[in-house]
Amino acid sequence: MGFEAGKGAWHRVASWALCACWVLASLAGSARAEEALPDRFDVVVLDAGHGGQDEGATGPSGLREKDLVLDVTRRLKKRLERRGVKVILTRDGDRFIPLEERTAVANDARADLFVSIHANASKSRKPRGIETYFASLEATDDAARAAAERENRAFGATAPDLGLDDPLAAILGDLIATQHLQESSEFAKLAQGELAAIGRARSRGVKQAPFVVLMGVQMPASLLEIGFLSNPDEEKGLKRGKRRDEIARAISRAIGAFAARYDERRGVQAKHSLAR
Ligand SMILES: [Zn+2]
Repeated sequence: MGFEAGKGAWHRVASWALCACWVLASLAGSARAEEALPDRFDVVVLDAGHGGQDEGATGPSGLREKDLVLDVTRRLKKRLERRGVKVILTRDGDRFIPLEERTAVANDARADLFVSIHANASKSRKPRGIETYFASLEATDDAARAAAERENRAFGATAPDLGLDDPLAAILGDLIATQHLQESSEFAKLAQGELAAIGRARSRGVKQAPFVVLMGVQMPASLLEIGFLSNPDEEKGLKRGKRRDEIARAISRAIGAFAARYDERRGVQAKHSLAR
């Protein structure tokens, strides 16, 4: 849609400019804070998708995404804590957590990484495999767009208007989303590599899509789709504790490798040997 003529348009441009200045000022502010404190990798926020009335996807034999991802998240938390990482969960029970609460938990903790854990679903029973995402206003392909639409639906009532038709909103959105784009992409590749190495796992690759939960966090962030619940064979596997442990171990390894690179880039010595 084009700009309205006259005063209204100027007001709109001025308010966007103010908003852009605020974003730039907060980016500069966080850069200053990083200079002041040794920014060692030590805090991870794990976000188990869905919860409460929002059940997420359900498999043909009844496995619910909200239960599966909470269990995997708890297994991952234990592994990371054993390796000296402080782990904060956005939910540790079967309750619905609004979008702004999930992102506020991560931002208030000034976490070094945000990992949102989900399971995929499709109308067809055929699709299977693991996908790792990082945020973008543009989806990599139709399947990625569908995944983001499905995962964003739960936040329908509270999701911000992405204003994708508005060029200024798109630029601002890109500015926010790309602040940690490179590190988000790096973690996504590490996670996908580790998850794809699990026995019988099929890699569907690293993708990008507009997941609102990833767009509100001020840190490297990634969303993992750990398998298709709509695929009966994959659902069967995901019911097993062994498979869930393998997934938790793979994500823990990826976080370890990411932490080592993160500390090296910032010239600080890791306080724990995460990269084992
Ligand atoms: Zn989900």
